[in-house]
Amino acid sequence: MDAYLSSIILSRYETVREKIFNSARAFGRQPNDIRLVVVTKMHRLTTVQAALGAGIRDLGENYAEEAVEKIKLIGAVQDLSWHMIGHIQSRKADLVAQNFAFVHSLDSIKLAIRLDRFAGEAGRKMPVLIECNVGGETTKTGFPVFDDSNWDHLYTEVEKISELPNLEIRGLMTMPPFYLDAEKTRPFFRKLQKLSGHLARRLPNVRWSELSMGTSTDYWVAVEEGATIVRVGTAILGDRSSQD
Ligand SMILES: *Cc1c(COP(=O)(O)O)cnc(C)c1O
Repeated sequence: MDAYLSSIILSRYETVREKIFNSARAFGRQPNDIRLVVVTKMHRLTTVQAALGAGIRDLGENYAEEAVEKIKLIGAVQDLSWHMIGHIQSRKADLVAQNFAFVHSLDSIKLAIRLDRFAGEAGRKMPVLIECNVGGETTKTGFPVFDDSNWDHLYTEVEKISELPNLEIRGLMTMPPFYLDAEKTRPFFRKLQKLSGHLARRLPNVRWSELSMGTSTDYWVAVEEGATIVRVGTAILGDRSSQD
């Protein structure tokens, strides 16, 4: 393990945690309620090992095959959770059901049905978040919720997902349009929070406890708007092209 890289990662991790702490406190929230997932996609194995060496135990990946290769090589580590945060092709559903602790990116009924089947075969219950497209961009995955008139349709879809025996809905996830100015993403985070309240009133038996939102450019704003999970890559691991 690269001890030098590990110490750099640890110090960046602590900087991010401190900013989360301050935003949470300023908005009357418990800082410990916010989970920081470190996004390791496209980083090589040595970087992942250095992150583990820094004590990080929540890791996020986007591509099933790339992730599973790392997961196998890393092996069992106490308290380590792998989070699937990228779009999942239906035919990769079995890989995801077998290797990930948590799915943030459930974006269709079709995928839900397959994940449920493979989770069942793996003898487990999979916690999932419903991915929502809050910005209306056609290039983004997720259930369309930009227009409030789609919310009733989402409700019927979510109701079907909630009836699948091997999936457990825990909340919502979003990836808003990209802006360098964090303030510009605030309305999208606010929209997800509002949608969560709306769904909670209509489907009170589902546990609507999690909101996964915010990345390196805006995680503190997401915390101010109610995020319970933030997904941060670059600000902790550095640039993905230089890989350290
Ligand atoms: C890559 C990615 C992140 C992390 O982005 P950074 O800008 O590196 O913090 C978070 N969420 C999703 C869905 C991603 O694809």
